[in-house]
Amino acid sequence: MTFTKELTAGQQEMLMVRARRRNILCQALSILGIFFLCVFGSLCLFNDSYFLGSILLLSAFVGLVNLYILKRSGDVERSARVLSCILFVLSISLLITGGVNNTGILWIYPIVAVNLFINRFWPAVIVFGAFSASSILLLFTPLRDYLIASYSLTETIRFIISMLALNAICLVALRSEEQAYRTIIQLHDDDIRHMAYYDMLTGLPNRWSFKTNLERMLARAEKEKQRIALLYVDLDNFKQVNDQHGHECGDRVLLKFSRQLWEELRPTGQLFSLQKESIARLAGDEFVVLLSDMKDPLDAGNVAARILSLFDGGFNVDDLSHMIYASIGIAVYPDDAKNPSDLIHHADAAMYDAKHNGRNCYRFFTQEIAEKLQQKQVIEKGLRAALRDDQLSLVYMPIFDCKDNRVVAVEVLLRCHAAELKGIGPDHFIPIAETTGLIKEIDLWVIDKALQTLVNLQKNQNFKGKLCINISGVELHNERFPNQVKSLLSHHNICAENIELEVTETAFVAEDPLCLEILKELDGLGMSIALDDFGTGYTAFSQLIHYPADCLKIDRSFVGDLFSEREARNKMVMIIQNLAKLYDLRVIAEGVETEEQLNYLKDSGCDWVQGYYLSRPLSLSDLIKLLEA
Ligand code: C2E
Ligand code: MG
Ligand code: MG
Repeated sequence: MTFTKELTAGQQEMLMVRARRRNILCQALSILGIFFLCVFGSLCLFNDSYFLGSILLLSAFVGLVNLYILKRSGDVERSARVLSCILFVLSISLLITGGVNNTGILWIYPIVAVNLFINRFWPAVIVFGAFSASSILLLFTPLRDYLIASYSLTETIRFIISMLALNAICLVALRSEEQAYRTIIQLHDDDIRHMAYYDMLTGLPNRWSFKTNLERMLARAEKEKQRIALLYVDLDNFKQVNDQHGHECGDRVLLKFSRQLWEELRPTGQLFSLQKESIARLAGDEFVVLLSDMKDPLDAGNVAARILSLFDGGFNVDDLSHMIYASIGIAVYPDDAKNPSDLIHHADAAMYDAKHNGRNCYRFFTQEIAEKLQQKQVIEKGLRAALRDDQLSLVYMPIFDCKDNRVVAVEVLLRCHAAELKGIGPDHFIPIAETTGLIKEIDLWVIDKALQTLVNLQKNQNFKGKLCINISGVELHNERFPNQVKSLLSHHNICAENIELEVTETAFVAEDPLCLEILKELDGLGMSIALDDFGTGYTAFSQLIHYPADCLKIDRSFVGDLFSEREARNKMVMIIQNLAKLYDLRVIAEGVETEEQLNYLKDSGCDWVQGYYLSRPLSLSDLIKLLEA
């Protein structure tokens, strides 16, 4: 078996462990050999066997030098070669002299064998073979005359048999060790290969091998003029399973789902062909199913419905019933996409559409989704260009105190001037920035610019109020965020008390420890925190006490509905105000557009207000004029 490719880290480590072991054994063998050679050498000299004695002591000396070199250089191969040569010379001289008093010469062979075996050292095999050949020549040819000792026939036969047996044992041991080693390496290799291509939890192909399979299948479909449907399955509420019951429970849910998925789809194989590699787990709770050779693309909808039916009445794992569902997006080759990455991308977009349409449903990729996707791509491009070419700016919306109509705070709002984003406001582009990951850079840019403005307002306009900065909910899962804010504050030398961070209520994830931790860290910096668009999320009122919030911003839709006919809506402002009073929180009403709304809010004890009736978002110069007036 040959290993032509590069070794993995694990294999390299295994080789290192083995090299260390060989080194230690080589040293131990040398020390043992030197000790015995010295003892026997001295004994020989004492018994007047000067020839053998000096060979033994000379060998001990060479062994000692060899040990020294081994310790310094660590070159086990060379050291083992020298050791084998010493043993060869020694064995031959013992054979010639017959040892002390002609007693057994065989004691040296086990040492040779051990050396050979544990060192897995092929030159030693050659040396041992050479010794076998030389000893046969010395014992059975006229060379016998050069022997000092004389051997009886029984002794010779015993010697030859023992030596052949040892030869065989050594070779067998050597081979089996070699094979065991190869097997371990191979198993390790298989593990690595499996890890690289398959998902460890479910055993399904992973994203990488799925892409390879998809490429292969599309190439075949193109030749054979077939249709392939790709179903992108994403579990809904799966995060809650992890949060409430722990990750192990989440793993069991995923495992069971992956098995049921296969069991459910197998019998439908007449409508299309389904292979083991047709199902894959792309990430966390995202799975894909490939249906090749589709007779009718609409059959993919039936398959999706069968997958959804797995969740009917709850998904039971370990006596627990989990309220999870799936959102499924379907894209068909070649109708919706011609290449693998577009097909995945389009099925993914259809899946998001299913999520936005109330989840627990499936959606085919449509022209409308294609347009949305294209718009998203255009916005993403525009945002990247804006960040690169400095085409972002801020506008400022004054917030007024209900008691004295003074400007007590200013909310910073982002604008983007990239050509691609003409007429598109943050309501549209922020969610795209969030899904593309650009938001982190944008949020930091906004905070930096806003703090810079605040420094100037404090210095030149003697502004004492708060600056309210919107941050994305994404930051509540970004462990680095509090430190980034902290360093920006100290960079601008701003007192944190003058800053309020607005986080939209929908970003709050109840019982998410990281989210809470980050809020507490931000709160710990000394800034206040406002729950923006309050009333639109799902904050259980009892949870409010756990959030380090200082302020509730009533969503402008509720202010707009103050005098509407709909009871449930026109009471929301009052309900939120009572709630805020209960938890001792400040209230800001946003979206005040009429005098009537303003008067109502003032009378009902609202703290601060903002809205087009009072002021539209202003440029910095207009804000300065307002503050100076
Ligand atoms: P928001 O934080 O609730 O901001 C208030 C939005 O309501 C602003 O829209 C503002 O112009 C608008 N508004 C205020 N008063 C009225 C009113 O009387 N009538 C009407 N019709 N609208 C009013 P804008 O600037 O389009 O911002 C929309 C959302 O985008 C913001 O909602 C916020 O969630 C997000 N956003 C804005 N700037 C940033 C930013 O710098 N960073 C982040 N992460 N998000 C931002
Ligand atoms: Mg806001
Ligand atoms: Mg708001």
